Amino acid sequence: MRILIVEDEIEIADGIKTILEKEGYQTDAVYDGLSGLDELLSNIYDLALLDIMLPKISGLDVLRSARNSGIDTPIILLTARSQTEDKIIGLDSGADDYLTKPFDAGELLARIRARFRRRDNVITQSLSFADIRLEQSSMKLYGRERSVKLAKKEYQLLEYLLVNHGCILTRNMLVAKIWGYDDQAEYNQLDVYISFVRKKLKFVSANISIVTEKGVGYSLQAGGKNDGI
Ligand code: CA
Repeated sequence: MRILIVEDEIEIADGIKTILEKEGYQTDAVYDGLSGLDELLSNIYDLALLDIMLPKISGLDVLRSARNSGIDTPIILLTARSQTEDKIIGLDSGADDYLTKPFDAGELLARIRARFRRRDNVITQSLSFADIRLEQSSMKLYGRERSVKLAKKEYQLLEYLLVNHGCILTRNMLVAKIWGYDDQAEYNQLDVYISFVRKKLKFVSANISIVTEKGVGYSLQAGGKNDGI
C-alpha cells in the first residue's frame, strides 16, 4: 500500500511518514499543494493524507482538482480544530474522511485501516475487461477457456493496466506503482514483467494486448497480439 502525505509542516509530515513506514506502508511526502496535486494526478497512490492549509494551493483546491480529473484515490483531510466549515466543504468536495490535528498514531492508523477495508469491500473481488477476468483472492487470470496463476508483481502490473485500460501508463508510473520510487534499480525489470504478463495473456488467448507506447510506456487495449517485449 502506497500512501501520499501532503503536509507543509515538515515535522508533522515526517512524523506521519515514520509511523506509516513502521506499519509497512510505503510513503511519499510533499510539502505544498501544487506538488501534492502533481503526485495525486500520477494515480499511483492507494490513499492520500491531505492537509487543508497548504502553500501554493489549498488542500481543498487540490482535492477538487484531483476529483475533477477523475482521480478516485481515497483522501483523508488533515484539519485544524477550527476548520469545521472546511471539513464539511471537504467531504462535499469528495474527501473520504478527515482527521483533526493533533491526532495520535493509533487514531491515524485506525482511520487508514478503515479506509482500506471499505475500499476492499467496494472494489469487486475480480476485475473484468474484454474476455478476461482477474481474480484478486487467487491472483488468477481467466480467459474464456483457460486460467493461469500470476506472480504477485505480474498481478499488480496487470491490475494497474486493467484499471486504466485504454490509457497510456508511463514507465515511471508503472515502476513507481509496482516497485516504488526508491527502487530505481528495478527499472529494467519492468520490460521483463511486461513480457511475462504478455505470455500469460497469450496463454489464456486473451483478446486484449499490452501495447508498447514507444519511448513513453504501455497501455492495455482490446484486441491485438501479445508478441514481442
Ligand atoms: Ca498546514
